[in-house]
Order: sequence, then C-alpha cells, then structure tokens
Amino acid sequence: MPFRKFGFHSAILKAVQKAGYTRPTPVQEAAIPKVMQGHDVIAIAQTGTGKTAAFVLPLLHRLANPERQQQPRAIRVLMLAPTRELAAQIMENIRAYGQGLPVRVAAIYGGVDEAAQIKVLQSGVHIVVATPGRLLDLTGRLRTDFRALDVLVLDEADRMLDMGFLPDIEKIVATLPKRRQTLMFSATFPKEVESLARRFQYQPKMVQIGKRSSPADTVNQSIYEVPAHLKGPLLLELLKQPEFRKVLVFTRMKDGADRLTEFLKAAGVKAAKLHSSRSQEQRNLALQDFKDGKSQVLVATDIVARGIDIDDVSHVVNFDFPVNPQDYIHRIGRTGRAEASGEALSFVPEYDLNLLHILELTLARRLLRKRLKNFNYRAPVPPIKPGEKPLRRDWRKRTREMETRKSTPPPREHRAPAPRAKPSSEGS
Ligand code: AMP
Repeated sequence: MPFRKFGFHSAILKAVQKAGYTRPTPVQEAAIPKVMQGHDVIAIAQTGTGKTAAFVLPLLHRLANPERQQQPRAIRVLMLAPTRELAAQIMENIRAYGQGLPVRVAAIYGGVDEAAQIKVLQSGVHIVVATPGRLLDLTGRLRTDFRALDVLVLDEADRMLDMGFLPDIEKIVATLPKRRQTLMFSATFPKEVESLARRFQYQPKMVQIGKRSSPADTVNQSIYEVPAHLKGPLLLELLKQPEFRKVLVFTRMKDGADRLTEFLKAAGVKAAKLHSSRSQEQRNLALQDFKDGKSQVLVATDIVARGIDIDDVSHVVNFDFPVNPQDYIHRIGRTGRAEASGEALSFVPEYDLNLLHILELTLARRLLRKRLKNFNYRAPVPPIKPGEKPLRRDWRKRTREMETRKSTPPPREHRAPAPRAKPSSEGS
C-alpha cells in the first residue's frame, strides 16, 4: 500500500483503500510530506488532480493524533473555498476519508438555512469548511473562537480572488492566530495569488505539479464546427451514441441552460440543470441525480460547475464555447479526472471561431476537427414565429445577421483598394 509511507493513522489508510486509490497522485506525492512536516505550502494544482486529499488526509491524520486533548472540541482547521459546491465536496471528502475517526466537521455556506449550521458550529467542531461570505457573517455574530486554530487552508485561491473575496478573507485571517500553518491551493499562479502567499504564509514550500496532469493533456479534445441553430440537434444525435453515458454540458448563460434542458427533455433525454439562480436544494438534487446516473446529461454554467467533483464523467460538451481559455481548461477538467482519460467536445459556430483561435494559441496546439457522419449541417435556420417573445441572445437573429453580412458586399471604405493602374509611359 503506497500510502503507508506517509505514516498515516490506520483508519485513514483503511479509508484510502476503500476509496480504491492504489497510489498517490503527483500533487499528493509532493504535498503530503510537506504538510505533515508542518510547512506552509503553496500548491499549484487544478481540481481533478487529487488536491483535496492532498490536504485533507494529512490534516485528518493530525486531528487523529491529538496533542491538544485539553480542548477536545475547538476549531483546529479552517478550510475556505470559493463556492458552496466546492465546500460541500470538501466536506464529503472529509467524511469519506475520516470514517472511523472522532473528527467533527461543519460546513458553512450561503444559500441554505443558517440555523442548522449555527447549531453544528455551536456544538463544537474540529474542522470548518466554508465560503468566506457566510463564514464572516456567522462567526462575527456568534463571536466564534478561533484561538485553538492550527491550520488555514485556502482552496482555489485564484478563484476566490477572482470572485472578489479578498476583503472577506482578510477580515477572517485577522481573527486567526498568527502562529498557524497556512496551505494554499490554486489552479493558476498570478501575481495576486503570489502576493496573498507573501502576506499570509511563512516561508512556504512550493509544489507545482508537472504539465502531465493538466487536463489539456489527458483529455481527448475535439471541435465540431456547426451553425448555431444546429447545436441542439447535433447534441441530440451525439447523445444517441452509447458511449455518451454521463455528459456534462456547458452553456454560457443561465437562460441558455434553461432552454437547452427543456429542449433535451422534450426530445426524451434525461437532463438536469445547475446554475446560480436555482435554489441550493435544486442544485443538490440535480447534482445527485447526475452522480447517481438518473440523468444522462447535466447542463451547467461555469460559475457553479467549477471545482465540482463528479466521478466518471464520460464527456464534457462545450455547447457554448467558453469566453476565456482558463474556463475551457476548467470545464474540460471535469472529465479525465485523476489521470483517467476523458472526452471533451466543443461546438463552435462561425461567430466563435475567434475564441477558438485564441484558445489554440494559448494551448499552443491545433485541436482536432470532427464532423458527425450523416448529420445535415445545412439544415435551414428555423423562422422566428410572429408574436414569439424575442430572446436576449437569439442565435437565429445572429445567424441571419452573419448570413446577411456575408451576402452583402462590405462598405466601400473597407473594400480592398483597386489595383493601381500600371504606370503608363504617357506624359513621362
Ligand atoms: P480533486 O482534485 O481533489 O477534486 O480529486 C479529483 C478526483 O480524484 C476525486 O474524485 C478523488 O476521489 C480522486 N482521487 C484523489 N486521490 C486519488 C488517488 N490517489 N488515486 C485515484 N483517485 C484519486
């Protein structure tokens, strides 16, 4: 059992075995010994690399061997994460790996009733997993005592900064003991994260796992160039293939996710949707149905899908092409997790070709173009019915505009200059 070399508590080894892990992933290999030795660590690792276990396992080990028996129910570890989904997922990981250990955990995040969270927090817990906003609100009101805290974990630090959590994080950190271990995980390492490390960490050890684990390398990626109005029908055709078992589909907008889900359901596909206008309960249910295989398709927007961990996603489909390359990497990282291979497909209508071009420049490679056989790529754009409510971003309108633009000559000033007449010898 290769995990034995870390010297973990026997209950943790058992849980790891039960999870079916045969060997540590690269980020676990590199980070676990440093965390065990008590160093501050900054790890550049994306979701899908096994990073959660890289901090949860050694911290559970520490709690399983308590040096501070005198405060049996004081908060020892605080883990901050950008979204409720990620916090809930870390919580699930702690529960799974901490089976058989007397470790109590509270998850504190918005969107759900706070009374239950307050009750758990007041009953005394060892680990708090939280999103910054709700934590600050609750612990401020409850005057939560963090004096016994040993470890602070900032998960997806880059994302938390992107989401504007810096002021909240600063206020939270101000209430924590100065002598503590601080672990920071981030998918990218921009200067804002570097500055966070400088302010909150003491001589951190850096863990950067090689390119090998980037989803951009482990996931098979392909591009379907398809007119916007045929993206839905193309998806339906693809879903008929048996290998499309568990398909995560990304749209850019919430209303796009709503419309696509309705479209799929009307065609008899079992589909659920996940976006930020849905209640926490609806989100949990959609996620659970997808995890359990009750829905073949989960339609999601970027904000909620980032970081969620679903085993065994067979395909990621970028129904709407992501606006920036970082989102692309995150989306496709939902498949091919922990070194398994996965498939990522992107639909690219003509008006998104520039985004594809930028992505390919970023990845420094050209992605494979695919075409589905026997699919009519020339089907006409359906008409907008009289009296039909116009959509905010109506692809039919945009497709028509593109077609009109193609068929009308550009205005005079944009035309290529007429070739200059050969200089004549006359008059010289
Ligand atoms: P994470 O990057 O923490 O979101 O983890 C991604 C996935 O990898 C999760 O489904 C974990 O259960 C799985 N995982 C974590 N560690 C290992 C391991 N050593 N071997 C195989 N799978 C793992």
